[in-house]
Amino acid sequence: MAYQVTLIPGDGIGPEITKAACRVIEATGVEIDWQVVEAGQDIMAEYGTPLPDNVLESVRRTGIALKGPVTTPIGSGFRSVNVALRKALDLYVNLRPALSIPGVKSRYENIDLVIVRENTEDLYAGVEHMVGEDAAESIKIITRKASERVARFAFEYARAQGRRKVTAVHKANILKYSDGLFLESVRHVAESYSDIEFEDRLVDNMCMQLVQKPELYDVMVMPNLYGDILSDLCAGLVGGLGVAPGANIGDTMAVFEPVHGSAPKYAGKNKANATATILSGALMLRHMGENEAADRVTEAVRQVIGAGVQVTYDLGGTAGTSEMADAIIAVIQGK
Ligand code: NAD
Repeated sequence: MAYQVTLIPGDGIGPEITKAACRVIEATGVEIDWQVVEAGQDIMAEYGTPLPDNVLESVRRTGIALKGPVTTPIGSGFRSVNVALRKALDLYVNLRPALSIPGVKSRYENIDLVIVRENTEDLYAGVEHMVGEDAAESIKIITRKASERVARFAFEYARAQGRRKVTAVHKANILKYSDGLFLESVRHVAESYSDIEFEDRLVDNMCMQLVQKPELYDVMVMPNLYGDILSDLCAGLVGGLGVAPGANIGDTMAVFEPVHGSAPKYAGKNKANATATILSGALMLRHMGENEAADRVTEAVRQVIGAGVQVTYDLGGTAGTSEMADAIIAVIQGK
């Protein structure tokens, strides 16, 4: 029976890259019945909101979605459509693997890191205000419940994927209450996972260590803002945003999407690199238990990028989005 999966094409380059990703996923033979719903800037005029209720209803029904990037229109009432979606569906983990792909230009080889970012609180809770005219206050919210559940995810993920170590990233020396509580919560969860090594690092030191000795690290778990910053750093270690996949995961639902945004200047030009979305699709297949299909997609992407011919401009080639997808599909189908 076909899987029911919500497809949110998004806007900007979203429709082209999600189309490429869907074709690649379908080439594996896994049958998917895509339920297409629209979010983002382009549907504001029709629905009066960039995040209509039917998007949330569809993901609640299917439990799984592949999403293109969406632009948050100015004046939409949303700080970010993406943050609103993650909050509404309680997708409390942002999972961002950073894995070197041979052929992608980068200063490093053999990077294999995973960031597990708390997705619902910290400074992203959006509690901020002016204090008079010349001062502003933003409130950092950290709770034991949110910290423990994201820590549990990190350890379960490490165990399921056969990974050796979890590092908690924080600034508890300065933020003694908020990051102090985060660290205490992760330490508490770590006690139940004696098979996984555990350590913690200050976020500033972690940035330096990742640049100097990335091979020392494995799975890293951290509050929202540090996760936002470090996941772009890790994307940089493997060659940039065009190849960085991601997932937003809750207890009953998961939304898979590239780390990058809607790159409006390339919209409709068949130029954008769909790799990050295709690899997000591979993460989705793995989440569905379709490990063999996920492996085939990942391997085909690596082969096409490794050959360096049918690749998009950002990878040094001249192929369009759809031609690069065709090349990946040809590898999957053994042509
Ligand atoms: P961006 O990621 O869209 O672009 C950054 C740079 O990378 C640009 O030069 C862009 O052309 C290039 N780029 C990005 N993806 C590419 C791809 N797949 N192939 C080739 N080149 C690519 O970031 P931005 O310009 O800061 O944001 C544009 C819009 O996207 C904003 O409205 C922002 O809110 C939104 N955004 C959405 C998401 C999401 O939906 N998850 C994430 C980030 C940003």
